[in-house]
Amino acid sequence: MISQSVKEALQRFVPVENIRFDEPLKNHTTFRVGGAADCMVFVQSVEQMQKVLGYLQKVEIPFFVMGNGSNLLVGDKGYRGVILRLAESMSDVAVVGNRVIAKAGASLAKVARVALEHGLAGFEFAAGIPGTVGGAVIMNAGAYDGEMKMVVDDVTVMDSQGALMVLDNETMEFGYRTSAIKKQKFVVTECRFLLQPGNKDDIKAKMDDFGARRREKQPLEYASAGSTFKRPEGNFAGKLIMDAGLRGFTVGGAQVSEKHCGFVINTGDATAADIKNLMEKVQEEVYRQFSVKLEPEVIMLGEFA
Ligand SMILES: Cc1cc2nc3c(=O)[nH]c(=O)nc-3n(C[C@H](O)[C@H](O)[C@H](O)COP(=O)(O)OP(=O)(O)OC[C@H]3O[C@@H](n4cnc5c(N)ncnc54)[C@H](O)[C@@H]3O)c2cc1C
Repeated sequence: MISQSVKEALQRFVPVENIRFDEPLKNHTTFRVGGAADCMVFVQSVEQMQKVLGYLQKVEIPFFVMGNGSNLLVGDKGYRGVILRLAESMSDVAVVGNRVIAKAGASLAKVARVALEHGLAGFEFAAGIPGTVGGAVIMNAGAYDGEMKMVVDDVTVMDSQGALMVLDNETMEFGYRTSAIKKQKFVVTECRFLLQPGNKDDIKAKMDDFGARRREKQPLEYASAGSTFKRPEGNFAGKLIMDAGLRGFTVGGAQVSEKHCGFVINTGDATAADIKNLMEKVQEEVYRQFSVKLEPEVIMLGEFA
């Protein structure tokens, strides 16, 4: 619960129209599940973020920075605290030479479009990943022949005290779907991508090819969070799940996609509990049959029961 004094304090930092209370998170996640957050604040600038972060920590209210919600499983009971989102004004993308400078709220699709317009190659792999720059950098998102690690020059982050730091590629310690700052309470505010000059037709053809491959292989017609589990070493989660006989396996409204067993989908009326239960059953069965531990790639947030 957010008290009246906290409501009033937040409104001193952020315009009232950018603050929502009891906001259903299912409207903000690609899984289309998740109960209400006590509060959601759309932060418009670095200065606002500094003030809001400083205040929330002073009064010890938990917070979580959300990008496009495309890698999140939020519990049915929602989130006790404040969800911070980056407003439209924190999604600008600019080009200087071979560098694309993107604010953290920009979608990867937008960065890819700007790179194409400027004849810059290297970002094609990310065009179809439905996340923001902030979420992608934290997760070291990747697909086909690329990952963030290959294109990030440096990342501007704000620490929990509101101080800004620029972290270079090495300091980010990118790993498979992780980075040095994933576990920290840093907020990504901006990222500079270093790309190479390329031929616009070639860049567009590559993006179109990756897009067609996604539409052919992935159940994009259903709500999901993409690949539900990380790729186990030397194996593929989807193949293990298929080989375990779990194609189409269903719990409530959650299902192992028939099209791509690596995706858990919401067939329409799934709850977060359905998805979580299904994931646990899949983990158990894959472990029972193949002694492989599947680790979730999706991030669990909030209260489940
Ligand atoms: C259909 C579909 C296809 C997908 N395909 C791929 C794919 O090919 N490859 C891939 O890697 N992923 C894929 N994903 C998963 C997802 O899109 C990526 O993980 C993406 O990078 C998440 O970005 P987001 O902005 O949605 O982050 P969110 O899901 O909102 O958050 C993810 C994490 O990032 C943190 N975060 C977000 N923004 C910030 C910020 N500004 N500062 C600090 N922390 C932040 C959050 O706190 C959270 O820990 C897919 C998802 C879907 C639904």
